[in-house]
Amino acid sequence: MAQTSTTSLNADRRARELAALADGEVVDLLVVGLGVTGAGVALDAASRGLSVAAVDAHDIAFGTSRWSSKLVHGGLRYLAGGDVAIAYECARERGILMERTAPHLARPLPVLLPLGPYVSSGLARRHRVGIAAGDALRAAAGTASATLPRARRLTVEQTLRYASGLRRDGLRGGHLHWDGQLEDDARLVVTIARTAAGLGAKILTRCRVTALAGDGGQIRDELGGTELTIRARSVVNAAGVWAGQLVDGVTLRPSRGSHIVLRRERLSGLDAELTLPVGGLTRFVFAVPQATGLVYVGITDEPVDGPIDDVPQAPESDIAYLLDALGSAMAEPVRRDDVVGAYAGLRPLLDDGQGHTADVSRRHAVLTSRDGVVTVVGGKLTTYRKMAEDGVDAALRRHGLAAGPSRTRRLPLVGAPVGPTSGGRTGGVRTGGARTGGVRTDRAAEERLVRRYGTEAAAVAALSERDPSLLQPITPSVDITGAECVWAIEHEGALDADDVLDRRTRIGLVASDRAAALPGVEAIITGAGAGG
Ligand SMILES: Cc1cc2nc3c(=O)[nH]c(=O)nc-3n(C[C@H](O)[C@H](O)[C@H](O)COP(=O)(O)OP(=O)(O)OC[C@H]3O[C@@H](n4cnc5c(N)ncnc54)[C@H](O)[C@@H]3O)c2cc1C
Repeated sequence: MAQTSTTSLNADRRARELAALADGEVVDLLVVGLGVTGAGVALDAASRGLSVAAVDAHDIAFGTSRWSSKLVHGGLRYLAGGDVAIAYECARERGILMERTAPHLARPLPVLLPLGPYVSSGLARRHRVGIAAGDALRAAAGTASATLPRARRLTVEQTLRYASGLRRDGLRGGHLHWDGQLEDDARLVVTIARTAAGLGAKILTRCRVTALAGDGGQIRDELGGTELTIRARSVVNAAGVWAGQLVDGVTLRPSRGSHIVLRRERLSGLDAELTLPVGGLTRFVFAVPQATGLVYVGITDEPVDGPIDDVPQAPESDIAYLLDALGSAMAEPVRRDDVVGAYAGLRPLLDDGQGHTADVSRRHAVLTSRDGVVTVVGGKLTTYRKMAEDGVDAALRRHGLAAGPSRTRRLPLVGAPVGPTSGGRTGGVRTGGARTGGVRTDRAAEERLVRRYGTEAAAVAALSERDPSLLQPITPSVDITGAECVWAIEHEGALDADDVLDRRTRIGLVASDRAAALPGVEAIITGAGAGG
């Protein structure tokens, strides 16, 4: 029998909570969508003492939230565009995430702009001013320089220490600044949802909203096939690019952003995010090394018309564009057969109804329909907390509900050490030398668990007391262990192999790894009975 806590999500809890709602329980707030926005809204409301049901048609982090660049932006791009207010909001939220609410999931990332022939001296000068302004913004936002060190100019030799595979001809040195990097975007969303669950929120996946009004929604249970009504005193629509399908007057025209996935060996010697300007100081192609041994290279920006796919695909034209841009800076070209995976996500662009679009991927919008549904759309992963606060404030105002102010600024997410931290290491988490929860593990494996689970690392490792083989990787080409798959099912709400492979772990980003891991994950699901 698995040990569960109030933050544990699993099939049994889902069934119980769905039954209570079907029996007529009325909640203060119904939230549609369990991306970062909806999970954030659920947490904000639950932490103010409201009763919450948050539903997703598929799974936690099924939509855009798992297809991001996995960065916690300080808003440098917006600063370059002259939008100081948005840049400040990003810098402040980045600091809250890295130092207080999720230091275990976000860490400092060196960002390198090599000064090669593709960077004019004018552009280099403006970039230098920009990163200095970014430093000032960090300080103004109250983030310590121990968390994000100051920007500096690098010599050619220092530049090559961060990226030894760069073309050397014409290289004049580099600029280095620091930003935040997430362990993984879907992991952040699951962690926010579990934190909300710990405060009593009902987190219900495979529940599709088929009709929505200011006092609740019609839900189809995609597992059981039954229909039910969830009655609520207020409603927030956080369905991302699908938000317009639920509320009249909200029209979105998405834009696709693609990434390719490379093995780190292919860009060996890359120890920083490599950024290459492709459009002044507001458009870059970048390569971000991951602790998993992969590198994500992004990003494109292409309008998408017509039906919105559940899972958008990166077309060959996007892949070729990214390979070209990266290849222009590297000594050895990167080839199509070096690409082991590709993914695409959709940015929400709000259509103003007169053929124009407004880019709410940088500034979030809170819109209230005539019957009182509050739609929160746009923004960034980085600013999810503020978006959630604004959305809940609007819902409370519209429906005359009483609750205190938002508390999330100081609320650690599940796994975060309690109390402020700086330095972005593992948030001061310790699992006790070479032993983790009484189970002997090697140091690298232990550090990896702490990086992904924070203070819960010991509990994940302790699952191997049931079966020592659970501490082995689920397949030799990845480092995810069987214990992590069991944890995903018993505590993180994974209901099937897709949830485990594509969202709780990101094994699915490399198709060959996914195929190799599938039998092991399926065996664990059968063995675990997918219950709690
Ligand atoms: C390519 C790309 C890269 C990005 N990189 C970054 C980055 O590095 N850092 C950063 O801060 N931001 C980044 N962003 C922005 C960020 O990813 C998004 O702003 C954010 O993830 C949007 O989250 P969301 O919750 O609003 O939408 P989503 O994550 O799309 O969530 C919406 C959810 O609603 C559910 N849903 C839809 N219809 C229904 C229905 N009828 N019933 C029930 N549920 C429903 C869906 O299943 C989905 O899970 C990036 C965006 C893109 C496109």
